[in-house]
Amino acid sequence: MNKSYQTLRLILGDQLDHSHSWFKTPDDSILYVIAELHQETAYVKHHIQKVCAFFAAMEAFASELSEAGHHALHLNLDDTTEYAGLDELLSHLAERFSIERFEYQQPDEFRLDQQLGSLALDNIEINKVDSEHFFIPFEALPQYFKKNQSHKMEMFYRKLRREQNLLMVKDQPEGGQWNFDKDNRNKFKPDDIDEIPAPLVFGQDVGSIIQRLKRHEVQTIGETTDTLLWPITREASLELLNFFCEKLLPRFGTFQDAMTNQSEHKWSLYHSRLSFSLNTKLLSPREVVTEAISAYRHNDDMTLSQVEGFVRQILGWREFVRGIYWLNMPEYRQLNHLEAQRPLPEYFWSGETKMNCMSEAINQSLDHAFAHHIQRLMITGTFSLLTGIDPDQVDDWYLGIYLDAIEWVELPNTRGMSQFADGGLVATKPYSASGNYINKMSDYCKSCRYKVSKKTDSDACPFNSLYWHFMHRHRSQFEQNPRIGMVYRNWDKQPAENRSLTLARAEWCLENIDQL
Ligand code: FAD
Ligand code: SF4
Repeated sequence: MNKSYQTLRLILGDQLDHSHSWFKTPDDSILYVIAELHQETAYVKHHIQKVCAFFAAMEAFASELSEAGHHALHLNLDDTTEYAGLDELLSHLAERFSIERFEYQQPDEFRLDQQLGSLALDNIEINKVDSEHFFIPFEALPQYFKKNQSHKMEMFYRKLRREQNLLMVKDQPEGGQWNFDKDNRNKFKPDDIDEIPAPLVFGQDVGSIIQRLKRHEVQTIGETTDTLLWPITREASLELLNFFCEKLLPRFGTFQDAMTNQSEHKWSLYHSRLSFSLNTKLLSPREVVTEAISAYRHNDDMTLSQVEGFVRQILGWREFVRGIYWLNMPEYRQLNHLEAQRPLPEYFWSGETKMNCMSEAINQSLDHAFAHHIQRLMITGTFSLLTGIDPDQVDDWYLGIYLDAIEWVELPNTRGMSQFADGGLVATKPYSASGNYINKMSDYCKSCRYKVSKKTDSDACPFNSLYWHFMHRHRSQFEQNPRIGMVYRNWDKQPAENRSLTLARAEWCLENIDQL
């Protein structure tokens, strides 16, 4: 470590990108700093595995930079505890190393962008550069998205497929269609269950990080494990990517919406579990998509629908929610279009509920800091939507509990897609559903205390009556929506007595929500 440096460059915990142009050539006049900070452990209560994964990945990244000849300073919570926040730490480092210039990469989170944007360091030049991670550079986002306007993901995705020339034949989609959703909605049959591959997991020792968190009284949620299952280095992330392309991608699309409690691999299924590696930038979205397409080209047994389903998630949804986030912040954080007010039931934190689907999704999240997309959207998300939970509390739960949760991607998915609190900026209709949907896509209902076939009895599936209660109380919002109108026509056809019994059962469920 030198006594002084010309430039100080900050690396945030989700900016662990080995291929960023910053790192092309080692330069003795530059000091990189990567720091564990109390402010980052405290802005929401995180899952303990999430904090461990971020801290372990940051430490590994700093030592890899040093090995590559860069000057990297890694500071842990013990080192930074005396500074009130990032600003104070940076002021201290600027003085200690006689810095002339401070540089940082475009943060993905609004709050950090604001904090660094208002940073004042005496007589020091401050520069911000692009993170170089996404398909769309930060400055180009307004060319694709407009504030307060709803956008269709499908149109955005097609535009990007064309621009990036991915799975295209000239200007037409490979295979003649953009979308294979119809082929990608299978449920697991008994024979499929035995074939679900064991996940590739890693055994990173995080004992010393856990001790550090205890020492600093960092409040966390979820199950502690001394060894992390998640990849925290680029090497391990590449291993997981290869494993995914070889073993999981061939059936990814087919089972992307399926859920089961019959397999010991029920928490991983055919999902890539690459979101942490992507969101920390250990992997780039371009290389992930390119590898998946290459695996498809080299596997004659793999259908186009599998790889298209995967490319759509990354090139489509991931880039799409980022655009919605940046064009609509900070107002987006406050939106509550359906005026939902109810507190989040306690079982979101304990997993103790009689609803089997909710118990599966929540306990898995507490155990692994992970749930697949359909569990997040159609189980915990739909339940919160139907029961009218305050979106602030829903957001805090999703932002805290998932290993991959960073606000830019969590917020539009939760507040927008799953809670419709943005009034339709992300989704053209709310993702409301009854127990029928859950029964169609999973085997959860078979072993549930509630009966999915019933709507009004005391043992009836709560989702059934809550669904109708939701549609009924928001009728004025949704009746004119062409994608929903039919639901109201069906509701109106039911005998008046059935309708009032259904609403009465839903009222009971709402009043006794903590006992469900
Ligand atoms: P796969 O199923 O293997 O999908 C591949 C990749 O596609 C993912 O790694 C992810 O990078 C991307 N992707 C898929 N769906 C989405 C989506 N809707 N938005 C953005 N990227 C997507 N994803 C996060 O990364 N962080 C979050 O905090 C987050 N919060 C969510 C909250 C809710 C309510 C919902 C419905 C979804 C959320 N998602 C979030 C999206 C998605 O659920 C996760 O990306 C996915 O479950 C991660 O697991 P995987 O890597 O195995 O994904
Ligand atoms: Fe969930 Fe209802 Fe099925 Fe039970 S019966 S698992 S509550 S959908």
